[in-house]
Amino acid sequence: DRIQSPDVSVEDDELERSLRPRAFGDFVGQRAVKEQLSVAVEAAIARGEALDHVLLAGPPGLGKTSLAQIIATELDAPFVQTAGPALERKGDIAAFLTALEPGSVFFVDELHRLPRALEETFYPAMEDRQLPITVGTGAGARVVTLDLPPFTLVGATTRTGLLTTPLRDRFGLQHRLDPYDHDDLAAIVRRSAAILQVEIEHQGAEAIAARSRGTPRVANRLLRRVRDFAEVRMGGVVTREAADAALRMLEVDDEGLDRLDREILRSVCVTFAGGPVGLSTLAAAVGEEQDTIEDVYEPYLLQRGFLQRTPRGRCATARAFTHLGLPAPAPEQG
Ligand code: ATP
Repeated sequence: DRIQSPDVSVEDDELERSLRPRAFGDFVGQRAVKEQLSVAVEAAIARGEALDHVLLAGPPGLGKTSLAQIIATELDAPFVQTAGPALERKGDIAAFLTALEPGSVFFVDELHRLPRALEETFYPAMEDRQLPITVGTGAGARVVTLDLPPFTLVGATTRTGLLTTPLRDRFGLQHRLDPYDHDDLAAIVRRSAAILQVEIEHQGAEAIAARSRGTPRVANRLLRRVRDFAEVRMGGVVTREAADAALRMLEVDDEGLDRLDREILRSVCVTFAGGPVGLSTLAAAVGEEQDTIEDVYEPYLLQRGFLQRTPRGRCATARAFTHLGLPAPAPEQG
């Protein structure tokens, strides 16, 4: 597994469970989203109604699942979880919806990967709490409409652009999670260290936060690796020196880039002379899937100003050349 990937790895599972914030009060940062959601939750409780459907968008590892669970906890409602790719047939959705207890939070992760043909099943369910199903086949087939209990659909997506407008419009509450700033990440690292009972110095938390790519999941993973290193080599306390040495060993640089990020940049800078290079060519050059580059590596490289997306392909910026210690290319003539 790649250490700087915002995606979940198998060994994250246990850790994520213990570190997951349980209430809005534990959830660090994203103040506007948190406030708007907590007001909506309180209002729904006061009215004795199900909360409006919620769409959470944003890159992986920023806390969408955590927020969905917090919503259920704060509503004191059952939490039922699935993901877009697991819903292959209309019957899969029907099985979930008809088994919901009244008021449940039904969380569908990766909503953009729900097969298009199934989206329509959600429309009447979300709008009128109705589920039309076809009973029988051939000439004897008829449509029976089932009444569903009140429920809140919480959809999570990394790509809002891939949802159709009719589906998106059926979410009364829509929020976008953005990468966390340095102070919030440091606060997350300190919170996680306290839960894991790791002694950490202020500067140690800062060093980890600086390389966490704005992503709590990465921050927690780095903390765990640094903890191992500190325990084995530095007497157990996560100091700035322990964090720096551990991250150097893991080949995570000052910008939070790992070996593969640098390989991508080097490829654009050197092999393709700074670009532009098409995504598929770049993917072949570094031996990675095109989707993985686009979803996992590229967002951070774009965000930090190492790469630029142009109509003709990806280009390396002067900052990328400097970061890799390469001479900047001469400015283009004309
Ligand atoms: P994915 O879509 O990839 O599943 P996600 O956006 O749902 O990711 P979560 O699984 O909710 O992300 O969060 C990843 C981990 O990061 C959680 O286990 C939690 O420990 C931590 N985390 C996320 N957001 C916060 C936060 N705001 N405060 C504290 N910890 C957080």
